[in-house]
Amino acid sequence: MIYLDNSATTRPFDSVIKAVSENMAGNFGNASSLHHMGVEAEKVLSAAKKTILEKLGADGEIIFTSGATESNNTVLFGVPKAYRHNGSRIVTSSFEHPSVENPLKKLGEAGYEVVRVKPPKHNEPQDYEQRIIDAVDGNTLLVSVMWVNNETGFVTDMSRVYRGVKRKNPKTIVHCDAVQGFCKLPAKLLTADLISLSAHKIHGVKGVGALYAGKGVRFEPLLYGGGQQKGVRSGTEPVDLIAGFAEAVRSYPDCTEKYAALNERLCGLLAGMQDIGINSYNNAKNILNFSVRGVRSEIMLHHLEEREIYVSSGSACSKGKTSGVLAQFGVPDADTDCAVRVSFSPFTAEGDIDALAEGIADGIKRFRR
Ligand code: PLP
Repeated sequence: MIYLDNSATTRPFDSVIKAVSENMAGNFGNASSLHHMGVEAEKVLSAAKKTILEKLGADGEIIFTSGATESNNTVLFGVPKAYRHNGSRIVTSSFEHPSVENPLKKLGEAGYEVVRVKPPKHNEPQDYEQRIIDAVDGNTLLVSVMWVNNETGFVTDMSRVYRGVKRKNPKTIVHCDAVQGFCKLPAKLLTADLISLSAHKIHGVKGVGALYAGKGVRFEPLLYGGGQQKGVRSGTEPVDLIAGFAEAVRSYPDCTEKYAALNERLCGLLAGMQDIGINSYNNAKNILNFSVRGVRSEIMLHHLEEREIYVSSGSACSKGKTSGVLAQFGVPDADTDCAVRVSFSPFTAEGDIDALAEGIADGIKRFRR
């Protein structure tokens, strides 16, 4: 089996499975309990927070959530309530994940002014980060932009965005959905007041994520209940899943050079085939989106699946409708229908790339009209 769909989810590291199961079996106390078992559970939470903060290279709070969807919703609904006097304008990109875009639609309906900044076109030197900064005014309460796009891998310079936004309006809160970049890109390139993270994209398990909040940054809770996590996120903490999350952070190796080499190899092999369009640019090297013209995505996906090679159709779909994100990156409709997204992990080997290329070449012979 060759799994090349790591932007969708990842295989938990063996060390993660061990950490989760050890905590399930031997450390199942409620972190709020006052007895010894509660204290032991609480120690796991504190250690996990420390691990994540160290990886981010930041000071502040870590709030555990059920995943990045919850982290993003918490920010988008909670920040406008906490800072309602700072304005009613929200600046974002035109290619956010639905867990950001759909809450923003709701905020737009509720009267907020949502400004969506487009990415630069391929080979057109437009300064995307500067256009985000330019969109910020005295009425802007929040900027929410993703670090790495999940469909194309497009990378935003979050440190530059942060500095520019704060210079323009120090009161504006900067949020980043960093799900696809965390542990894959150097954290020194990421600065924000609020950062959304997810464990299952870095070989942790599904159902746990985190929200980083810088010192003094506030938001109204999304969930009310027993007042866990200082009242900002009620609900009994899943100590076992959180132990696995921290273990994934500790175990994720530096793959910068490996991903660059795999990407170059795949691009080289694709360049040898006819009528392939590369849809990724300015991208994190673990993600490559391309179109095999004349073969629809689902056909190619199932053809590769017969060879036990797992990739994703290049355009995220929901109920038969594409997300429209590739169009934002200038990909024509015909190419969107034929798009394939490949995403690597620390387990990916050169031989996997060669097998993929062979499978694609064979698919072209079999299906191209
Ligand atoms: N943001 C991005 C960029 C993603 O790729 C995903 C996962 O698909 C999410 C948010 C949602 O993460 P989760 O599955 O943890 O809710």
